[in-house]
Amino acid sequence: MEALSSQTAVEQALGAVDDAGSEQDAVFSLELSQDQRDIRDWVHGFAEQVVRPAAHEWDEREETPWPVIREAAKIGLYGFEGLAQFWMDPTGLTMPIVNEELFWGDAGIGMSIMGTTLAVAAIYSSGTPDQLVEWVPQCFGTADEPKVAAFCSSEPDAGSDVSAIRTTARYDESADEWVLNGQKAWATNGGIAEVHVVIASVDRELGSRGHAAFVVPPGANGLEQGAKVKKHGLRASHTADVHLDDCRVPSRCLLGGREKLDERLARAREGRGSRGQAAMKTFEVSRPTVGSQAVGIARAAYEYALDYAKERVQFGRPIVENQAIAFALADMKMEIDASRLLVWRAAWMGRAEKEFEAAEGSMSKLKAGEVAVWATERAIQILGGNGYTREYPVERMHRDAKIYTIFEGTSEIQRLVIARAISGARID
Ligand SMILES: Cc1cc2nc3c(=O)[nH]c(=O)nc-3n(C[C@H](O)[C@H](O)[C@H](O)COP(=O)(O)OP(=O)(O)OC[C@H]3O[C@@H](n4cnc5c(N)ncnc54)[C@H](O)[C@@H]3O)c2cc1C
Repeated sequence: MEALSSQTAVEQALGAVDDAGSEQDAVFSLELSQDQRDIRDWVHGFAEQVVRPAAHEWDEREETPWPVIREAAKIGLYGFEGLAQFWMDPTGLTMPIVNEELFWGDAGIGMSIMGTTLAVAAIYSSGTPDQLVEWVPQCFGTADEPKVAAFCSSEPDAGSDVSAIRTTARYDESADEWVLNGQKAWATNGGIAEVHVVIASVDRELGSRGHAAFVVPPGANGLEQGAKVKKHGLRASHTADVHLDDCRVPSRCLLGGREKLDERLARAREGRGSRGQAAMKTFEVSRPTVGSQAVGIARAAYEYALDYAKERVQFGRPIVENQAIAFALADMKMEIDASRLLVWRAAWMGRAEKEFEAAEGSMSKLKAGEVAVWATERAIQILGGNGYTREYPVERMHRDAKIYTIFEGTSEIQRLVIARAISGARID
């Protein structure tokens, strides 16, 4: 793939996203274009040759797989230029295709490569074009020296309930700086990131309407990594608390700028129109990408179990010749394909700026996450005792899959969002 310069890539991605709505109807097809197939095969090759062979080692080490990230950066798969090219696809399908292939290789390493996009998505959705150009390339570093970025929203007492965020941002007029204080929990790449995007409250009384997003630039004083989390799965991906102790950032680090923030706060204080709809739309747009990661894990487990079932002989014949096993595999294939279709539909809707009438983004993430947990458990069952050991990859895949019913909105929260969207009722 040909690399673009950072500046050009940022500008082209912005332009392409702006144009997407008008082009969209003509280009969407379930038959992938040559470009999409080329990118899929290219990522698949990397996942097969580089990611998979490294998966067991980095899961056991529970460390960020920097050598693999460097390999990805070297070939242009990790970096803003690559991401911009995936984003520029006007059908919206390239992002889920890339994620599915990468996470088919391994989810822990996949998250180490894709975790940065959480911060990038926040900069993209809240930042000005100038902020995008300044910060996004820094999130990734360079091909020779890649960096990662972190998005810090969750706190010990604010997970599903984002309105409970206690981290504060106070403006110090004399220094023209914002001062951040608080504790963030569960941040992917937290503390090891070059750029942290932090959600903080500028007015606690307004709940989530008093929140703003800040970039904490590289080397800022007052930001420190807290405890690193030891996890059930996704162990090659670094997750940690982040402490903000009088962390000072220049005023230009407020994403979207001061004028927009003041306008929004004034609207909220007067009880005028909420921007909740906009926030909801942002989630609907990002959730299919998360869903596609779960599809990748589920497909990996299904393929492994299918091959195993054809080879493993019991009672004088391959176990796949038992209906119980064959039907389980048939159900796995069907559910995985159904998940992918929901993911692609929502990805296309997001890119084409279609109205999300039934929270289709949430549907895709919910379905794919639950199918991944179920399918990986089925795969363990098909492998029997071997499936339960760390010598075979389906055990790791099952541990990795579980996070997809928890982060980026738990399954219960997705059901809440869908139920509210279809009923219009206030459901608690
Ligand atoms: C590996 C990992 C990586 C993560 N990465 C990040 C990151 O990069 N950045 C970040 O900001 N956060 C991150 N998170 C945090 C993640 O987003 C939260 O864990 C998630 O939002 C759930 O919040 P919680 O853990 O506090 O659970 P809680 O909100 O306490 O929920 C506990 C249970 O109660 C249920 N529940 C809560 N409210 C309701 C309700 N109204 N109705 C029905 N059920 C409800 C939930 O569904 C869940 O089953 C990460 C977490 C993990 C484990």
